[in-house]
Amino acid sequence: MRKYIVAGNWKMNTTVPEGVALAKEVAAKAKDLPANVELVVAPPFTHLSAVAEALKGSKVGLSAQNCADHEKGAYTGEVAVSMLTSVGCQYTILGHSERRQYYGETDEKLVVKTRLALEAGLKVILCVGENLDEREAGKHFAVVTEQTKNVLYNFTAEDLKKVVIAYEPVWAIGTGKTATAAQAEEIHACIRSVIAEKFGAEAADEMTILYGGSCKPSNAKELFAEKDIDGGLIGGAALKADDFIAIAASF
Ligand code: PEP
Repeated sequence: MRKYIVAGNWKMNTTVPEGVALAKEVAAKAKDLPANVELVVAPPFTHLSAVAEALKGSKVGLSAQNCADHEKGAYTGEVAVSMLTSVGCQYTILGHSERRQYYGETDEKLVVKTRLALEAGLKVILCVGENLDEREAGKHFAVVTEQTKNVLYNFTAEDLKKVVIAYEPVWAIGTGKTATAAQAEEIHACIRSVIAEKFGAEAADEMTILYGGSCKPSNAKELFAEKDIDGGLIGGAALKADDFIAIAASF
């Protein structure tokens, strides 16, 4: 059965006390959501322990926003997958466009990080998506296909059960411009066919594919009504508990 997920990427926002308060509010309000929707929050690394504590007993999952591409050792400033699981993370986001764009995250690195995360028992939210130039040049299907293949074709159908894909057109992130439901759906269907091509129809059908990019309470319902859109990766709107919950309630 395909899972529906709404995940909040807090990026580099909130202090630890603010993050704990937000997590508590999300946890309290999540109680009324339908059981088939999983909520996940991804605070900054510094918040993870405290937010894990705040979420205890709730049905809200915890994710990191990134992980190191090494197991441990002399990598100043990096955070290892074992550190993430030790504070109660169940997920890590990988390949967010901001990391690809500002921190040189390559598909090759993402293969290493995905492997380390899966081996540690973390689930991975792998982000893919084209930028504005690529969309305007009509290359969006090719870019997303290549990003998906470059990382996920190195894994097995069994591994893929622990992977969620987030399609995030870069031109829609934090810009207020959302892809239309039809634009998002055609890419989601393409990603599903890329998964089917290598791993078979069942694996493709079970894959959760999220949409991300200026998703908010006013457009979530239309997006989530599409047959290949299984939830959202939410940036700005995840910083307000009411908006985040309203998005999750749009299913
Ligand atoms: C994101 O960066 O993952 C994102 C979807 O951001 P926003 O919702 O703010 O566009």
